[in-house]
Amino acid sequence: MSHQPAANRYANSALYRRCGRSGLQLPQLSLGLWHNFGDIDDPANRRTLILRAFDLGITHFDLANNYGPPAGSAEINFGRVLHADLAAHRDELIITTKAGYYMWEGPYGEWGSRKNLLASLDQSLKRLQLEYVDIFYSHRPDPHTPLEETMGALAHMVRSGKALYVGLSNYNPEQTARAAKLLRELGTPCLIHQPKYHMFERTVENGLLEVLALEGIGCIPFCPLAQGLLTNRYLAGIPADSRAAHDPRFLKPEDITEAKVLKIRALDALAQQRSQSLAQMALAWVLRHPAVTTALIGASKVSQLEDNLGALKNLAFAPGELAAIDRILQA
Ligand code: NDP
Repeated sequence: MSHQPAANRYANSALYRRCGRSGLQLPQLSLGLWHNFGDIDDPANRRTLILRAFDLGITHFDLANNYGPPAGSAEINFGRVLHADLAAHRDELIITTKAGYYMWEGPYGEWGSRKNLLASLDQSLKRLQLEYVDIFYSHRPDPHTPLEETMGALAHMVRSGKALYVGLSNYNPEQTARAAKLLRELGTPCLIHQPKYHMFERTVENGLLEVLALEGIGCIPFCPLAQGLLTNRYLAGIPADSRAAHDPRFLKPEDITEAKVLKIRALDALAQQRSQSLAQMALAWVLRHPAVTTALIGASKVSQLEDNLGALKNLAFAPGELAAIDRILQA
């Protein structure tokens, strides 16, 4: 039977923030389907996660052409749940996809050419069983394709009705400023930027966040929990059901060093003083920056989604707390 969404899913209107200087509001937590939604993952859990997120007011689901494994399967699996359970709610959802990383063989299967981006969007729409996506991203800058060509392809998607908005991911401040200017000239303002940002990875603080604020572009940091490191997951070893143990493509057990665990334990102690879980503090920390619109989390369990939403109960940091976090990170 198709899912009956929770009647009170929009009860917390404070959940939503305006994305840059656009008309679009996004929930302060968005759910990414990079991990846990491929064919290797449990179908019942995939469905439960998507539907519980929607019931909690999370209207924004982030995908890319290559999410899986195998590549493409996260879009197929999300599309199935969407059509079986949420078909009547398409206009309540922000569904995004991207292209730029390797997807198919030959010279057109990755990077930023018009050929790659337009073909990839058509493939994604088929997998998702959709006529349009809400946001399409250039997943990474392409040093060998003129930026004019990549931005022209994004603007074309919007004109053709296959994307409502466009965004950039992994572009540095200079590339972002140039791309934003080109998109503005093409009549398709850049809605949002998706960079990596968490306590252990702060490159965006060296210029990107300023550019986004200046340009009125929203920001959706990915991996705000450092793939699970900034949670209680690895405080006492590597649990069998964790990402590092069962799907270590990008988070390898050897990355979880003794030195890192010491910092995580110190951060956890600080979070407890704030009456938060470490995950909640790490999310609040990313959301503290005025340029940040929403944190793009992953989850393998519904209980994680629920814990993470609790972050919104305490987003404020005393200057002393921020300084204490900096001291731990720099130690
Ligand atoms: P996070 O940093 O949020 O890590 C998510 C993982 O943390 C979960 O899978 C889970 O790990 C653990 N976790 C989450 N909440 C809790 C909690 N409350 N308590 C304990 N553990 C918790 O994000 P992801 O690395 O999953 O990335 C999020 C999204 O960002 C992706 O799905 C994708 O949409 C996007 N992304 C974009 C990229 C880009 O280039 N644009 C690159 C990478 C990601 P476990 O599985 O061990 O339970």
